[in-house]
Amino acid sequence: MIRTTCIRIAILIFAPIGACAIHACVSSPQAATAGEVLNIATSMDDSAADDMRSIFAEAHDVVTAFWGEPFSEKVNITLAPNRAGFDARFPPDWGFKSECWMVGAGVADFLLYLSPSAWADEACGHDPDDAQHVLDIAVHELTHVYHGQINPTRDFTGSEEIGWFVEGLAVVVAGQLNRDRYSDPVDAIYEDAVPDTLQNFWSGQHRYAVAGSITDYIDKIYGRNVLYDLMNVTTEAVFLEKLGVSEQQLLYDWRAWVLED
Ligand SMILES: [Zn+2]
Repeated sequence: MIRTTCIRIAILIFAPIGACAIHACVSSPQAATAGEVLNIATSMDDSAADDMRSIFAEAHDVVTAFWGEPFSEKVNITLAPNRAGFDARFPPDWGFKSECWMVGAGVADFLLYLSPSAWADEACGHDPDDAQHVLDIAVHELTHVYHGQINPTRDFTGSEEIGWFVEGLAVVVAGQLNRDRYSDPVDAIYEDAVPDTLQNFWSGQHRYAVAGSITDYIDKIYGRNVLYDLMNVTTEAVFLEKLGVSEQQLLYDWRAWVLED
């Protein structure tokens, strides 16, 4: 649907000039393969690095298939062989030190991934032998990159009030809502554990379930084009305006949708 819009706009704008602009809009993004888009740097040993390159190629295809659109820019990925290497790759002005559960990070300009070979000693809550989980995290972080390349903040700084959407989107694209390791939004509702405000949706033990589920609700009810359009939003007010709904109504409608599903 997004690609159709792209073609239509190109025809409207460029028709008097010639056909090549239309051609560029339609064909060049489709030609971008994972190998052309992903810049992967690592000091991991060759075979482990090759495994991760395959995983990221697959993850790239999951993300672009979800949107029907390529990445708008190249993706710079660092595969860190250990926790010290992971932390060292963050911009110094962030003053960042990762916690043990954190094995990936993604914004427009970079993606960091702690090698699964380091998880046993330097991470908690992640199983390096669970191939689906290793892939899901790659898709999750690549979704943050994809989103960041569209969002004017590029790294979501200042748009924390819709941080739940940043995470919810990554959860949905990665299919993490459907994995047994995450809780069910129905449980969150029955346990009265759903936050009262959207801003708090990415919090608590059910954060994957509730942030992911309400994003899934927007995708299913409002449509993929609307979901795509929301990626350049930085405030809750504009987010709700685009949906044409109040916060209270959105929460009410989502809850009803979850319970009738
Ligand atoms: Zn995330």
